[in-house]
Amino acid sequence: MKFNRILLKLSGEALMGEQQYGIDPLRLGEYASEIKEVVDAGKEVGIVIGGGNIYRGLQGAGEGMDRVQGDYMGMLATVINSMALQGALEKTGLKVKLLSTLTLRPMAEAMSRKIAIDYLKEGYVVVIAGGTGNPFFTTDTASALRAVEIEADVIMKGTRVDGIYTADPEKDPTATKYSEISFDEAYEKGLKIMDLTAFTLCKENSLPIYVFDMNTKGNLLKIVNGEHLGTIVK
Ligand code: UDP
Repeated sequence: MKFNRILLKLSGEALMGEQQYGIDPLRLGEYASEIKEVVDAGKEVGIVIGGGNIYRGLQGAGEGMDRVQGDYMGMLATVINSMALQGALEKTGLKVKLLSTLTLRPMAEAMSRKIAIDYLKEGYVVVIAGGTGNPFFTTDTASALRAVEIEADVIMKGTRVDGIYTADPEKDPTATKYSEISFDEAYEKGLKIMDLTAFTLCKENSLPIYVFDMNTKGNLLKIVNGEHLGTIVK
């Protein structure tokens, strides 16, 4: 199965690389070149990044902070990551537009489905920052929402694991990988792929979720060109 328009979801934690916090410039550069390969191959790429390497609302709530205040701080963390990725992508020579749900003048334009699609068609990478713009949500849900809005063929969920397993492969050596799984089966088995809000949105809109190892060079391009490497939920 080939994909022409993708929504790439990266977690904030992935940007830490070997660090404990923040953004690893090496990792950022690696991701930028993976994405460039895909754009150079003529694919349209929208991107949503998390903020967990910097701040999570639940962490603030655990420390006594108001949850909503913490969630907005988390949304701002996604802005920082999005801007970092934008810079790294531009360095490779790609054309990039940063759109945001939160008002971020002068750094970003307001997210609008029409503007996002127009930019994608013009060959820009579109990075969508600020999550859904609402507290109590996650960037998983934001990526599902944006993927549906921009009519992406698939959500590419880049992780450090190469797909979905029967159990956590980092803890259980007998775990085996699914090549393909249905939404219903993944739900019944309680597999943690995305949070349930995101998962439901994808299921209701028949939007496949592709879980793959983003840290192996060339994987993203291979998959969009039709090679089957990770796990597809559909
Ligand atoms: N967040 C939010 N609404 C959204 C998206 C994100 O409130 O629509 C906040 C929430 O506090 C979350 C934080 O931003 O913990 C960072 O996002 P997320 O945890 O999804 O990042 P990731 O785990 O993917 O790095």
